[in-house]
Amino acid sequence: MALLTIGVFARASRLSPKALRLYDELGPLTPARVDKVTGYRFYAPEQLDRARLVAWLRRLGMPLARIRQVCALDGAGAAREVRAYWAQIEADTAVRRDLASFLVGHLSRGEPGTSGAPALEIRYAAVSDTGLVRESNQDTAYAGGRLFAVADGFGTGGAPAGAAAVDVLKRLDGDRIAAGDLLNVLAEAVEEAGRAVRGSGPEGGGARRDGGTTLTAMLWTGSQLALVHIGDSRAYLLRDGGLFQITHDHTLVQSLVDEGRLTPEEAASHPQRAMLVKALTAGGEGEAEAGAGGVAADLRLHDVLPDDRYLLCSDGLSAVLAVGRIRQVLGEVPDPEDAVRELVLLANGCGGPDNVSCVIADVRRSGVCITPGRERA
Ligand code: MG
Repeated sequence: MALLTIGVFARASRLSPKALRLYDELGPLTPARVDKVTGYRFYAPEQLDRARLVAWLRRLGMPLARIRQVCALDGAGAAREVRAYWAQIEADTAVRRDLASFLVGHLSRGEPGTSGAPALEIRYAAVSDTGLVRESNQDTAYAGGRLFAVADGFGTGGAPAGAAAVDVLKRLDGDRIAAGDLLNVLAEAVEEAGRAVRGSGPEGGGARRDGGTTLTAMLWTGSQLALVHIGDSRAYLLRDGGLFQITHDHTLVQSLVDEGRLTPEEAASHPQRAMLVKALTAGGEGEAEAGAGGVAADLRLHDVLPDDRYLLCSDGLSAVLAVGRIRQVLGEVPDPEDAVRELVLLANGCGGPDNVSCVIADVRRSGVCITPGRERA
C-alpha cells in the first residue's frame, strides 16, 4: 500500500507535523520510511491506529516515555498500564485536593476555633505490647494533650528509630500552633524526625542502613487534627458508626491494588504484604522519594466533629484483626483506656505475631463555647 506523506498522515491522525516529528525523535511513533536524501517522513496507513492512541494518551497528560512503554504492549497490557497511570494521577490529585480544601477553609474563615464553634476536648489512651512471638517491642505509642503517635520500627535499630521519630514530634505537644503554620510546622517536624532516625543507630553515627520506622501521628489544634503518615501503620476514624481508614498504606501490595494488579483480598494474604515503599529510613531512601515539597510523608488535615473517635495502630493490629472486629470494639467500648487494652488482647488472641500498638483519641464537647477574642484555657 502506498505510504502517506507527513502532511496527509497529520490530517488523518489529527496530529500536527511538529508533533509527529517529536514522536519520531522520542520513540512512540517512528515513520515507516525516511527519505535519505530529503529527510521527508512517510507513514503507512496502518500506523493510524498507533497515532490515534498516542494522541489520546497525550490528552491524558501521559509523558512520552510512558506512552512508548504502553505502545509496546498488547491490548490487555496497555490497558493495565493506563489504569496504573490514572490511579497514580488520582492519588496525587487527592493529596492536592486535601491541601486545597484546607487552604480554602483557612483563607475564608481565618483561624479556626475562634468564631463561636463549640469548644472540643480530647480524651485519649495509648498502649504498646510486645505480642506473643517477638522477643522485643520495636513499636512506640504515644498520646499526650495534643499529639498522638504510633511508630513501628523495623530492621536493626528499629526500636530507637521509632522512638527518635516520636520524640521529635512530642516537642509539638505543648505548643498551640496557628492553623496557617500547621502544615509547615509538621513538614519541618517530619524532616527533623527523618534526621533523628538517621542519627538513632549505634555509635551515634547513624543507624544501620537496613533499619527505619513507620510514623503515623495526629496533632490536635483545638478544632482540627493534622495527620502525618509514612509507612503502613494506620489511622482510622469512627464516625456515626462507620469506620474509615484515613491513611493510605505505603506498601508494595497497596500500590499494586491501586494499579488494579491485585485485589484487596489477594493483598491481605500476599507474602510480601509488609514490604514498605516509603518509611523514615536509616539510609534516608524514604525521604529521597519526596516530591517538590521535600517530604515523602503524607500530610493531611481533618475537620473533627464532636463524638469522632480516632484510632492509630501498628500493623500488629490491622494485619491480624478484621476491620469489622475493630469497628465493633471501638463502637462498644466507650472508655479509651479499656478500648486500647481490648484491641491488644484481641490481637494477642490471634497469636500476637507482631508488636501491637494502639492509640485512641476521642473528641468531646467541653461544654464551653469559644467566642471571638477568647481562647479556651
Ligand atoms: Mg509491625
